[in-house]
Amino acid sequence: LTEETDIVRRMEAAGAAILETLAEHGCEAYLVGGCVRDRVMGRPLKDIDIATSALPEKVAGMFPRTIPTGLQHGTVTVVMDSIPFEVTTFRKESDYEQFRRPQRVEFVDDLTEDLRRRDFTINAMALDRFGSLVDPFGGVQDIEARLLRCVGDPKERFGEDALRMLRALRFAAAYGLRIDEPTWKALMDMRILLKHIAMERVRVELERMLEGHDPVRAVQLLAESGILDFTKEPLGLPALRWDAQLAQASQLLAQTSEPDLRWTIFFMLLPVEASAAGAAMDGLRFPRRRQERIQRIMAFQEWIRQISLYYEPDRLKAKARFQEMALRYSKAIAADWLRLPPESADASRLKHEAAAWLDDMSIDQVQELAVSGKDILEAENRRPGPWLGILLDRLLRDVVLGGVPNDKESLLRQARRYRDRLPSLDKE
Ligand code: ATP
Ligand code: MG
Repeated sequence: LTEETDIVRRMEAAGAAILETLAEHGCEAYLVGGCVRDRVMGRPLKDIDIATSALPEKVAGMFPRTIPTGLQHGTVTVVMDSIPFEVTTFRKESDYEQFRRPQRVEFVDDLTEDLRRRDFTINAMALDRFGSLVDPFGGVQDIEARLLRCVGDPKERFGEDALRMLRALRFAAAYGLRIDEPTWKALMDMRILLKHIAMERVRVELERMLEGHDPVRAVQLLAESGILDFTKEPLGLPALRWDAQLAQASQLLAQTSEPDLRWTIFFMLLPVEASAAGAAMDGLRFPRRRQERIQRIMAFQEWIRQISLYYEPDRLKAKARFQEMALRYSKAIAADWLRLPPESADASRLKHEAAAWLDDMSIDQVQELAVSGKDILEAENRRPGPWLGILLDRLLRDVVLGGVPNDKESLLRQARRYRDRLPSLDKE
C-alpha cells in the first residue's frame, strides 16, 4: 500500500510540475476529467489528464520528453518522472460521424468550451494549479446527489457518440450513481444507435462494468436498459430481466474478483450454455484464450450438473468421475471451477470434497508420465499410429485413477497388458 501511495504522490507532484511549466509559458492549464472526479469523490487517483490553451507543438517544445500521441486531436503525452501524462489542447469536437467520436477537432481557447464537449457533469470539471475547482455544469452537486447526468441535452450527446450510453451505465455502476431521469430517458430512446459502435469497444466497456467495483449493479443496469439487444452484431443472448431472482443470483458476481470467473457467472445468469456464450464472446472479439477458458469452465459446470455429482451416493465413484473429468478438461480448468463461487449449499459441499480430490491427482498430462511415446514404441517394437495416443491416455488414467505407480517399469508392464486390446491400426 505504501508503494501505491508513493506512486500517487509522485504522480501528483509531476502533474503539478506540468501545470507550472505551462503557466510559466503563459498558457492556461488544468487537471481535467476522471482525476478531478475521483478527487472530489475521495477516490484513489488512477491517472492524470491535463487540458491546456497551448497548441500541441508548443506543448511538445516545453518538455524534454514527449510523445506525439494524437497531434491531430491535440494530444501530446508528456513523460515526467517516468510517468506519462496526456496533455490535450482545449478543443471542441465537430463533425460527429455516424454517431461515433469525431474525426476532426477544432481547437478553442476557452476551458468552458472544452468542458462542454465532455460526456457527464462529473467528468466535466477542472482543477487549476492552486487547487480551485472549475465546475460550470454542476458536477459537484451531482456527485453529492449521487446523480449521473449528461452535459447539455442528453439526446444530442448520445446522438453524437453512442458509446456514451455504455459509459453512462459503467459510471453509474462504478460510482453507485442514479441516472438522472432525462439522461435515462434519452438512453432508452437512443439505444438503437449502439449499432454504430465497434464490437471491441462494446467489449471494453462491458469488461469494465463486469470486472469493476459493482458487477451486480452493472448487471442490473444492463438488464434495465436492455442495451445489449442493440449491438452492431447480435450477441444472440436472451434478454436479462431484473427481478428478485436475478438480483439474488447475481450476488455471486460479487464473490469473486477474477475477471474470467465474473464472465462465467454472467453467462450462467442469463442463462446460456457454453456454446452460446462462445458465440457471444466471438461477437465481442474476446481474445481466443480467454474465450476458451470461460467456455471450458462453463462446460465443466454443465457436466457436473448433468451427472448430478452432488447427489452421487457412492463418494468413491464421485471422486473417480471428477478426476476423470479433470483429466479431460485439465486440472487448471477444474481448479477454476472450484474457485467459481458455489451457487448452493450442495455445490459448496461438493467443492470442499473436490478440492481434496484435485489435490490427490499427482499428474494431469501424458507429458508427465514416466514413459514417453518413444519409450513405448521401442518396448513394443511397433510402428507409431493412433494407438499410441490412446495408450498414453489409458496410462495417464491408470496412474491418476487406478493407482498404478508413475515409474517406467510399472508403466511399460501396464502397456503390455493393453497390447492385445488396443486397435492395431498399424497392421497392414
Ligand atoms: P476512467 O479512466 O476512470 O475510466 P475517465 O473519466 O478518466 O474515467 P476516460 O475515458 O479516461 O475516462 O476519459 C477522460 C475524460 O475525457 C473523461 O472524464 C471525459 O471528460 C472525456 N471523455 C472521454 N470519453 C468521452 C466521450 N466518449 N464523450 C465525451 N467525453 C469523453
Ligand atoms: Mg481516464
